[in-house]
Amino acid sequence: MAHSHSGTDGGSAQLSMPAETDHSGAAPRVGNTSWCSCENCVPMPSLLESFCCREEDKLKKYFIGRYSCITQVNELLQLCSEEKILENTGRNVEQVTNMFMRRAAYRNISDWIHGSLGSGNRIPLPSCVVQLVRRRYPEPDANYMGFQNRTEMAEGVADD
Ligand SMILES: [Zn+2]
Ligand SMILES: [Zn+2]
Repeated sequence: MAHSHSGTDGGSAQLSMPAETDHSGAAPRVGNTSWCSCENCVPMPSLLESFCCREEDKLKKYFIGRYSCITQVNELLQLCSEEKILENTGRNVEQVTNMFMRRAAYRNISDWIHGSLGSGNRIPLPSCVVQLVRRRYPEPDANYMGFQNRTEMAEGVADD
């Protein structure tokens, strides 16, 4: 029985360890919502997107007292309203797709949270916000999982 007694952590094969990885390099936030305290987030496919509105410093002022999730804030709801988006983009409802609406909504919300970032600068939005926008402007045949999802998000906050 080979018994390595060196104190260094040699890569011993891990059997089925319970998912208790903290900051060990893995992405323990992906695929769950343990990080959510607003109750509206859903599991996201990437670490970048796996965060809660309650974790966004710039939104903290809304959570003192009145709101438990940023998706309850009327200002934000306005930013993804159809009227507002159509008004901002100068389009009418026949000229737009839900993808267009989602991108516009993401962009409006990103500007609202972070200020204008300029082209090329992108910051993902909290999961609950992404959910809100997707529910409002769903993709008829889609699952949003996987890379398509990231593309949507990236395009949503970038200058097209
Ligand atoms: Zn949340
Ligand atoms: Zn939230």
